[in-house]
Amino acid sequence: MKQGINLNKIALEEHFSIKALLPTEDQVAFFDPQVLAQIEPLLPELAEQRLSNMDKAGIAISVLSQTAPGIQGVASSHEATELAKSANDALFAATQAQPNRFKGFAAVNLQNVEAACNELQRCIEELGFVGLLINGSTEGQYLDDPAVDPLWTLLENLDVPLYLHPGIPTNQPSSMIEELDGATWGWSFDTATHALRLIVKGVFERHPQAHVILGHMGENLPFYLWRLNSRYATTRYRNSIPTTPAEVFRQHFFITTSGVCDDSALQCSIDSIGAERIMFSTDYPYEEIEEAGRWLDQAPIDSTQKKQIARSNAEQLLKLT
Ligand code: ZN
Repeated sequence: MKQGINLNKIALEEHFSIKALLPTEDQVAFFDPQVLAQIEPLLPELAEQRLSNMDKAGIAISVLSQTAPGIQGVASSHEATELAKSANDALFAATQAQPNRFKGFAAVNLQNVEAACNELQRCIEELGFVGLLINGSTEGQYLDDPAVDPLWTLLENLDVPLYLHPGIPTNQPSSMIEELDGATWGWSFDTATHALRLIVKGVFERHPQAHVILGHMGENLPFYLWRLNSRYATTRYRNSIPTTPAEVFRQHFFITTSGVCDDSALQCSIDSIGAERIMFSTDYPYEEIEEAGRWLDQAPIDSTQKKQIARSNAEQLLKLT
């Protein structure tokens, strides 16, 4: 480990891909081809290069997940169920090879909720994974849809969190232009809206033990909570959630720092939702892992909060102790 980097971090939004699920040209059309050419070879690699990059960032444990859009980008339901198993089996092999360094988030096919539940149960109980990661909507269906309720019930029963990662939105708002598409803005807009749908459609009233993790410093929501409450109180379309949307966010959501190395965004998030709900991540291989590690090491926050964000919150939530 590099001098000065000694937080033994746990990182939760760290991507890999099986070859069959590498994003197609269409799915990542917004990427600068030169940037993409550097990233893509790193996705299937689950050995020395990844471990060496983790060391440079002071990361002890990476929780790995199939990259976006992954299973949520597969049109055929039968194929999606089979590919989810393949991705999870490949991830299991990686965690078996490096049990102290790699953990896993499951991938499932939500076009078939029963198959998704069976696969999630297999991943948690048989493969030792620590949660589920979903890449956005599935064929236009968001996770507040009552058809997905059995999956939420299973997440509660298994006591594991759902990481809500951006995917490819089925319907772009007409305001979206290509300069803002993808990770620049479009994905955060869609993912933050997805999270708010879960809140206002009562998912957490139906599933009070459910927990959701958002990446990218909470997809801008920690900054927005006051206005969310203020304006939600005035809408004629208000649903009967017993508390305010911000209260539900603070009770049921965790966020990670993936892809955001910004002191003021971190301080705002600490002030807004508390350091105990924030966890470190890098979004490898899409972002500079070493920069992310150095940034948290040097962030101007108190050392107790830094240790919580670097490691102990993740240890607790994912039961890694
Ligand atoms: Zn990511």
